[in-house]
Amino acid sequence: MGYKVQIGLSNKHLHLQQDHIDILFGKGHQLTPKKELVQPGQYACEETVDIVGPKATLKNIRVLGPARKETQVELALTDARQIGIKAPVRESGKLEGTPGCTLIGPCGTVELDHGVIAALRHIHLSADEAKEAGVKDKDIVSVKIEGERGLIFDNVLIRSGEGHKREAHFDTDEGNAAGCGPDAVCEILK
Ligand SMILES: [Zn+2]
Repeated sequence: MGYKVQIGLSNKHLHLQQDHIDILFGKGHQLTPKKELVQPGQYACEETVDIVGPKATLKNIRVLGPARKETQVELALTDARQIGIKAPVRESGKLEGTPGCTLIGPCGTVELDHGVIAALRHIHLSADEAKEAGVKDKDIVSVKIEGERGLIFDNVLIRSGEGHKREAHFDTDEGNAAGCGPDAVCEILK
């Protein structure tokens, strides 16, 4: 049996840099935590913004905190296509050459020239958990999901170390493809 990891499905969301928070929500605004996420220190915020692409707008998209060094919009490919953006599959934080979009908040508008991605699917593990699973940070693994629409995902990135806790992050397209419910788990294949 392989190492099992609970799946956390990521709906479309965004992370914001502080000067964009100032424009969208008002000078000096601090993000308001609404719900803690599994990853230590990460939280869903009360704040939402509209994400505008060439073809359509996604309304009331959740901001995740805390503020980041660089604004990052994470969409499933279905969401991106809906608003007319071709989002590349990228690891979090690797935003060079990615497309932009327009963000509309209650106090202002930000024109992003880059920052829209479809997140590269990944598994968070603490150092101890990675050891137990027999993997290390930056490894690429395959995982198996059981069930009626069960499938094997290749190219799953391991992210391990300080600030990580056991959880697999797939987006809504991936979760739907595999028929994942709220208690879905995946198994790391050796
Ligand atoms: Zn993640």
